[in-house]
Amino acid sequence: KEACSCSGRQTYHDDMAKTLYTEADISKRVVELGRQIAQDYEGKAPLVLGVLKGSFMFFSDLVRAVEPCPRGLTMDFIRASSYGSGTESSGDVKLKTDLKREKVEGRHVLLVEDIVDTALTITTVIRHLQECGAASVAVATLLDKHERRRLPYRPEYVGFVCPNEFVVGYGLDFDEEYRSLPYIGVLKPECYAHLGLDGAEPDGSGDSGD
Ligand code: 5GP
Ligand code: MG
Ligand code: MG
Repeated sequence: KEACSCSGRQTYHDDMAKTLYTEADISKRVVELGRQIAQDYEGKAPLVLGVLKGSFMFFSDLVRAVEPCPRGLTMDFIRASSYGSGTESSGDVKLKTDLKREKVEGRHVLLVEDIVDTALTITTVIRHLQECGAASVAVATLLDKHERRRLPYRPEYVGFVCPNEFVVGYGLDFDEEYRSLPYIGVLKPECYAHLGLDGAEPDGSGDSGD
């Protein structure tokens, strides 16, 4: 395989083919979601649970937008990874968490995800929380790439319905890169051509879940 032809470029911005959601688009939508969540969880002391790593930026913006903030809101994190052949989520989703059953039992859990794609990851996380005795489990996902579902599933809160393209930025990575970008966009094909995926789905590391 040839060396990555991105190497001549100086910044992550130079690798982007297009922007799908600007920083302003995202912050406007996050404020709307936060208000809706504050209303729906009034008096419910929600446990807001971020699915790492991809949701870290959405999570920190969203929790600040949950206004007026319901008393008893607490936060925690869970890590989900799916190990596949490289380009597809295998469905073998591994969860990593030190969250104890007692902390979930009887709580209204709001899961915060970066993107729901096939839905294999989020449905595994939901099942785990139900097994831990959560009073309710709902999902806030920034992006919903619903064309690619392999399971019938609809998240309760969706930032944007996303086209069927591999996106990066605002927490979402390609091989751990691009997470820090404040907007969401699509990479130039030559930025993953060196992996031989030919523009398919650059899930290069084989660890696509987080
Ligand atoms: P699933 O297919 O299980 O619904 O999605 C699992 C995970 O794959 C997501 O949480 C996310 O980490 C990753 N993923 C799915 N689609 C994309 C995408 O377009 N871009 C990036 N960076 N990650 C994605
Ligand atoms: Mg995720
Ligand atoms: Mg990833």
